[in-house]
Amino acid sequence: MRMYLKCALQWVLAIALIQVALYYWAVNRKGHQHKHTTRPSPGPHPYIMSMRNHADGTCSYDTCPKVKEGVFNVHLVPHSHIDVGWLKSVDEYYTGKGDGDYGNTLYAGCVQCILNSTIQELIKNPERTFIFAEMKYFARFWEESSQQLRDTILQLIRERRLEIVNGGWVMSDAGITMYNDIIDQHTLGFDFIREHLGACAQTRTGWHVDQFGHSSEHASIFAQMGYDALFVGRISDSDKAKRKSMKDLEMVWMTSQKNLGSRSALFTHVTFDGYYAPQGYVLENLKENAFRKPGILRNFLVTLENRAMHYKTNHLLVPMGSDFGYRNPELWFKNMDDAIHLTKAGRKQNVNLIYSTPSCYAYHVYQEMLAHRKRQESLPEGARNPPLFSTKLDDFLPYVTDVVWTGFYTTRGGLKRHIWQAGQILQSCKQLAIFSGLKGTFQRVNTLRDAMAVMQHHDAITGTQKKAVLANYNQLLSNATEKCEQVMADVYKTLWGKDIIKQIETPEFCPRLNISSCDVSEEADEFLVTVYNHLSWSVQLPLRMPVEPAKYFVYDKDKKLITHQVVPVPEGIQSIPERPLASAPTELTFMASVPPLSISSFLVKTDVEERKVQEPELLNEVDAEIVIENEHLSLTFNQRSGLLVSITNKASKLKIDISQDFAYYNPSSRNEGAYVFMAGTNPATLMRKGRPVAIKVIRGDVVQEVHQSFDQSVTQVVRLYKDSAFAEFHWTVGRLNLDNSFSGVDVVSQFKSTLDNGKIFYTDSNGRDMIKRTRDSWQMIPDFKISGNYFPVTSRIFIRDEAKRIQLTLFPDRPQGGTSLVQGSVELMVHRRSYTDDGLGMQEPLNDLGSDREGIIYTGKHYLLLDTMERSSLAVRHKAWETQLAPTVMFTEIKQNQDLHKALEQYNFLNPDTIPKNVHLMTLDRILENDTALLLIRLEHALERDDISELNKESTLHLENLFQPFDIVSAEETTLGGNFNPQEVERLEWVSEKGVAPKYIGFPDFKAKMVPPFSVTLTNMAIRTFRVKIAYNEGFPS
Ligand SMILES: [Zn+2]
Repeated sequence: MRMYLKCALQWVLAIALIQVALYYWAVNRKGHQHKHTTRPSPGPHPYIMSMRNHADGTCSYDTCPKVKEGVFNVHLVPHSHIDVGWLKSVDEYYTGKGDGDYGNTLYAGCVQCILNSTIQELIKNPERTFIFAEMKYFARFWEESSQQLRDTILQLIRERRLEIVNGGWVMSDAGITMYNDIIDQHTLGFDFIREHLGACAQTRTGWHVDQFGHSSEHASIFAQMGYDALFVGRISDSDKAKRKSMKDLEMVWMTSQKNLGSRSALFTHVTFDGYYAPQGYVLENLKENAFRKPGILRNFLVTLENRAMHYKTNHLLVPMGSDFGYRNPELWFKNMDDAIHLTKAGRKQNVNLIYSTPSCYAYHVYQEMLAHRKRQESLPEGARNPPLFSTKLDDFLPYVTDVVWTGFYTTRGGLKRHIWQAGQILQSCKQLAIFSGLKGTFQRVNTLRDAMAVMQHHDAITGTQKKAVLANYNQLLSNATEKCEQVMADVYKTLWGKDIIKQIETPEFCPRLNISSCDVSEEADEFLVTVYNHLSWSVQLPLRMPVEPAKYFVYDKDKKLITHQVVPVPEGIQSIPERPLASAPTELTFMASVPPLSISSFLVKTDVEERKVQEPELLNEVDAEIVIENEHLSLTFNQRSGLLVSITNKASKLKIDISQDFAYYNPSSRNEGAYVFMAGTNPATLMRKGRPVAIKVIRGDVVQEVHQSFDQSVTQVVRLYKDSAFAEFHWTVGRLNLDNSFSGVDVVSQFKSTLDNGKIFYTDSNGRDMIKRTRDSWQMIPDFKISGNYFPVTSRIFIRDEAKRIQLTLFPDRPQGGTSLVQGSVELMVHRRSYTDDGLGMQEPLNDLGSDREGIIYTGKHYLLLDTMERSSLAVRHKAWETQLAPTVMFTEIKQNQDLHKALEQYNFLNPDTIPKNVHLMTLDRILENDTALLLIRLEHALERDDISELNKESTLHLENLFQPFDIVSAEETTLGGNFNPQEVERLEWVSEKGVAPKYIGFPDFKAKMVPPFSVTLTNMAIRTFRVKIAYNEGFPS
């Protein structure tokens, strides 16, 4: 494969061609200097849904059930709440097999039975409806269905009797998922729908009935995908009570008012009481003809009328379902048929019961809103009432009922970390499969796409599943990751060529590097370390791998020796029982500088004759200060206490006093578990119980480290790498068998500084917008003063001293719960263990034991940035991405070293200076297996409107020549989900105090016909999505 570099001449040619605006230039051009190995055909892309021009016009809301004017319309919404893994595994829930109590519907599961029998019931009466959300299961059901059944399904969908809601692979958690993973998992579902179910199935309605709180970012994603409405099931009790009393359970949610304005508006409905049918009316638990018994129907209608009093319009949505309900759909439907017909025939003519769907309900509510607006507009200006619905600006987190649902932010940090690592690999794998043009990669990459999508389910990444299911999720991820390991190894081998392949073993990941275990680096005398940076900017990455004590030589691409250091493996890591006993006691570390979208390899050689280990410094002066420092930062520790005491940022010339320690909370009166965190009102107890922390110091040319030992459960290494502006806190926390008199324990890392942030701190929403949090801001129940101030820290948390213009930011390497409980402090919860179940359905304590059955140990990192508010803005964004989407590292053993220069070469896939610094290449993905020229690209702006940075401005780039291996020859912009032409989605124009939701979701400069060089302008926090056709340049694919 030959690297292709663009020359200035081609740019001149490209610009000349724009001037004549030849839309089909890309496919018809002559005399262009590139030779394309494949040529796409012109014409519109067949893969974008049209909402307007469907042959029989059945996609519109016209197919909704008719309602009656002037009466109270009850929309019965039959549904089954499905979990893609929870008490049983993903597979077991589909087939209905597996261990568990079959008398209990939660165990019975059986999604295929539910779908099969429900579809048969729908056929029997043309009024019946049903909604379904999980495309992971629907896709499998479809695959296993006969053509006849498929035809029936399509017919039901066309008639809007079977309605897809959400449209994603799973019903994603909203608290701690990352925005890119949310978008990806919906895109996967949309792709299935597009390919098999057709335009009418392509949903624009969110059905988030079981998530433990709701984030503004997830809702914003729905708005940007063109959704009209979102239905949520769980908001805090105090909020709900207030809303009920004010008829305020429906609102227009401005999900990202500060960045996207009214484009982010989304009508949001809070269900009256979760997603179950009203109490006593789970109809498959009743007998046939239940409503014909005296009083039953009357009581049902009374229940409904009581509910209706809390909503503003003449419509009421009633979820008619349960967890894995519709095992016996005949009973559900026969009874509902009865209720409908008996009501019609009865005396209560002011009630109209109908089968309906969430989107039809929203549509009818919208009609009432329009009528209200019309009435207001006919009044003189001063006499008008405000819009029918209130405006919501913040989010629905945390979720507080009689317990506080903030434990799952941290629960099972091992799975959470595993998901992030798999996400990093997926990103690399997708890109390299495309850049290399290798055949036969699609299905292997797809296995990991599928697994990552499943992990976004609200009982997966949350950690709220049974132990056996946890093991199954981890297995799914590992198996899928191995497929991408093969893909990436194939890519590297292809790039390096036959001569190299003879000299090497197959490149592999070391998935257990977190516990400093890696066969290749520990056993091979010579090996390659290969880094792929899938980010669109250069990164400086500290690499670290276990090695036997010896003298090492590390070479870069120019065969130059680079600085390295061999340091002892931290004691905490060495004591992790999952780490093989014979593992190497030392680690080799060096800095890798990797350009954007490029592969860089390093050669490591060892001289086993010379045993070389760096011993810790001898510390003798009591009370002395210990300082570790690099070009950017200096960290001072008190030798007596062993604790951090201050941090100085040299460039910004600022210094703060700051301490860091580990502490734990014990639950109050109520039992804890996977979902809930129930700290009492007492502050956390220090893990070291007042004892000093034992420390060791190691200094070298690559890294300076302070090793701290707090007690038998907690150790930490604080590191400053060469040239890094971030301090690294590498914690190892485990066992936690502290005090069995409590039902559980929650361990936190606490940073306490002299910064004055008042009560304000900021946490990210699914990794995107930063949300301003105010301590004790909502109606706080005194017992919940600690737990109730916890928020999801999916990727970062910061506090600001506005007067001094200083910002302190912390980044976890997986989602965690976090807060600022006292002025100047920030804390992140790192680990939890409980001996009880919290009684919320999991029916198991959160008590993972690890391989020695003593209590599992987790290890992870926090990164700290202390800088001015101005300098923090872009640095924070980049660090958040570099942490969640860290470059991928592979290790290759060298069998014989003759000439390795092809393997050490740097391979660049991005043309230099094409992507501005404030833009992130979020998605580069293939869409269809049989069309290698069709790709999905998403670009996003990094900064928010209120970020203080010189790069806080719009950026323009050209798609055409971004990448070295191929040119983009045609491009079409879509909505965020990649499935709609933005011009063809007509949204409902919800009215709020902040304005009217625009009818079209497209960006103001949207172009129906894009012409080369396909310029794209990104404003603050915009994500723009394109379906493009590419043509590989000469030499590609290899
Ligand atoms: Zn659920």
